[in-house]
Amino acid sequence: MVALIRKDTSDKQLDELIEWLGTMNLKVHVSKGVNQTVIGLVGDTSGIDIELLESLSIVEAVTRISEKYKSANRKFHPDDTVVEAGGVKIGGGNFAVFAGPCSVENEDQIEFVARSVKNAGASVLRGGAFKPRTSPYDFQGLKADGIELLEHAKKHTGLPIVTEIMNANHLSLFENVDIIQVGARNMQNFELLKELGRTGKPILLKRGLANTIDELLMSAEYIMAGGNEQIILCERGIRTFETATRNTLDVSAVPVLKEKTHLPVIIDPSHACGKARLVKPLALAATAVGADGLMIEVHNDPAKAMCDGPQSLTPEQFEDVMQSVTRIREAIL
Ligand code: PEP
Ligand code: MN
Repeated sequence: MVALIRKDTSDKQLDELIEWLGTMNLKVHVSKGVNQTVIGLVGDTSGIDIELLESLSIVEAVTRISEKYKSANRKFHPDDTVVEAGGVKIGGGNFAVFAGPCSVENEDQIEFVARSVKNAGASVLRGGAFKPRTSPYDFQGLKADGIELLEHAKKHTGLPIVTEIMNANHLSLFENVDIIQVGARNMQNFELLKELGRTGKPILLKRGLANTIDELLMSAEYIMAGGNEQIILCERGIRTFETATRNTLDVSAVPVLKEKTHLPVIIDPSHACGKARLVKPLALAATAVGADGLMIEVHNDPAKAMCDGPQSLTPEQFEDVMQSVTRIREAIL
């Protein structure tokens, strides 16, 4: 349920209303926008007398929210959420590109890629340390050592870092990580999501391979229910009958999510298509459709990459993509 508050309401009047609602075992979420203040009520609102609430002098209108996601709902929070991580803003008109290798492999590799993507205009360095691989015999990542190498690259370049968590028991290793990634395969690992809800860290939540947009929002809701509202959603391609690409990029997820939620939405064209030559056109489409950013895999030597080489761009190819992305941004502004 959301209540739209009249413009001339004082802070004291609003506090009294919130206190009264709080006595009914409801979580009250206040969203003070430039033009309007909205309060959202989460919990069992069946005991609330809508007519009574509407009759209060400071309340303009009351609406029940039928969707199961409440905190993530744009009706709750009409303005875009801006996530801030390591000095970088994402959302609300702030566009950010996350780039780096699929996996951190060694110091020279991550340092070189970090410098290259920074020079090309990326604002966040990505790199997998814990890798969710389909085969247990494939490279599983450098784990804690990988995070340490990312931290060094962060120190040397100033780029904030994003890396994937697979197990909540590893959380202490992520202390200096700026954005914690939840990969597609863990989008519905609800215990992990609950644990991340208790952290104050920005979370990059990737859509599951076979999950709907509403399921993605419910997963965001799990994190938000714990008190963490710093979430970036990521469309990374879904499973369809099509085999020409690794997954099928659901470009429509961006405008659909923008209607449903205030959270920033980025696109990962690399995992969506699985082929380096398709990354540029999809990155341009993602930019044009209104994504708040991109996540792109870049490797110093894609042919020798330990993971996802076929979809990784060279630093030169990434620079070319960045230049075209900038032109698309200018065209749509
Ligand atoms: C990744 O970004 O490293 C990754 C494994 O992606 P996804 O979870 O989307 O497959
Ligand atoms: Mn990858």
